[in-house]
Amino acid sequence: MSNKVTLLAVLVFVCRMHGAGATAPPLLAPDERYKADLLLIVAHPDDDVVIGGYLARASLDQHKRIAVIYCTPGDGGGNAVGNEAGAALGQMRIIEARRALASLGIENVWFLGGHDTPGQDPLRSLDRWGHGHMLEEMVRLVRLTRPEVILTWLPDYVVGENHGDHQAAGVLATEAFDLAGDRTQFAEQVWPARNRTGMSNLTEGLLPWQCKKLYFATDAFEDFGPYWHDSRDLSPFRKNFLDGHGPTYSNTDVSASRHKSYARLNAEQQLFYLTQEGYLATQAFAANDLRAFEYPMRLIFGKSLVGGAVTGDVFEGVSQKPAYSPPRTLPGGGRPAVEFEIGGPWAFYSGFWKVHGLDNLAGLIPVPEASVGFGHMLSAPLFIWNNTGAEITVKLRSRLPAEWIDKTAYDSYPVRPGEAYPLRVEVMAPAGGQDQWQELVWSADAGGQPVGVVRMRVLVKKSGGMTE
Ligand SMILES: [Zn+2]
Repeated sequence: MSNKVTLLAVLVFVCRMHGAGATAPPLLAPDERYKADLLLIVAHPDDDVVIGGYLARASLDQHKRIAVIYCTPGDGGGNAVGNEAGAALGQMRIIEARRALASLGIENVWFLGGHDTPGQDPLRSLDRWGHGHMLEEMVRLVRLTRPEVILTWLPDYVVGENHGDHQAAGVLATEAFDLAGDRTQFAEQVWPARNRTGMSNLTEGLLPWQCKKLYFATDAFEDFGPYWHDSRDLSPFRKNFLDGHGPTYSNTDVSASRHKSYARLNAEQQLFYLTQEGYLATQAFAANDLRAFEYPMRLIFGKSLVGGAVTGDVFEGVSQKPAYSPPRTLPGGGRPAVEFEIGGPWAFYSGFWKVHGLDNLAGLIPVPEASVGFGHMLSAPLFIWNNTGAEITVKLRSRLPAEWIDKTAYDSYPVRPGEAYPLRVEVMAPAGGQDQWQELVWSADAGGQPVGVVRMRVLVKKSGGMTE
């Protein structure tokens, strides 16, 4: 065979490999069975009851596809109807949640395996859950369910039931909102499988997904409903932080598909949570009095990449148009020589809101708030930052309402250059009296010059909460 014939044979072979008619098949579409219009991300089974009226409306009558993520099975809660506790209770609450959601037509429900962590500091919950692992799972489920909207707990420290787990669910959901659309984050999830029909695939073949809108719910005292409806618990220092910050939905409206009010559907949802506050619904039906479920459902607008009014409908502006917005970073520099500020969750959130573009939340509660029982100690973390080149001594002063007792151990703090001195102020609440809101003030001086003031507004009442 001559060289010419050999060359011809090679060319024919190459042409066959790349020839016309060898078009690849289209990529398979993501699995529609898991597509969600709304993804609800909460901490415990029964958290969904707080926004049950809206879930009923969106699922049953607006025909929105809803998926739900619970960060924990609620294994740290009490059991109102049986001896089962701890992990066993968690298994029961998982079933309660599945049944409650099924009553609203919601079936795609995931539990991420964190442990119910009592307290009011979201950082404690995140530490116990494994922040990174939980975020990875959440981003995976955002990419799987491809929601247009995420609805979650308010990532803010607000007086009321105010569970640290609730806030942690809101923190993670906000982070997942910002990360799931970025293919460089948890990249193994968006790298295609080597052979999807084969075995032992270790990359996941998901697509990056950018959600469009982020909304929050709260169970603070402002959220009147089955748990709270006493206006004496509301702070007199500021307006109701729900006013004008998001859409409101009536729970007395009647569901077109079920011919019942959303309040009644919400109460029926609560009936499934017998280990928790199911009795509130049992009693309401026995007395034929659903008023506790008839308060309007109020949400807080977080952010939108597609416009829409703050108080407009949750799905206003949502279309199939893709959206992307990279996370922002904290502005640096320009710090004063000495800073005196509150620490703990309050300090955490002030940075968190800036990074995640939640400017709307920064003004909701202008002064940090807490609650404490009569005769109990309130302990708050403060920080002194020395941004100068020399050691300073900072003097601390408190201004407390009558009958409060200052138990803070020191009033003078040496702070080395470039360092922060973490301190705790401890004050004893009055032994008794009327439930009321009061303002506590701490100020600091360095070298005779004022360096800052920290205020805290405290609800003092018979059954107070922890401060953090
Ligand atoms: Zn909860």
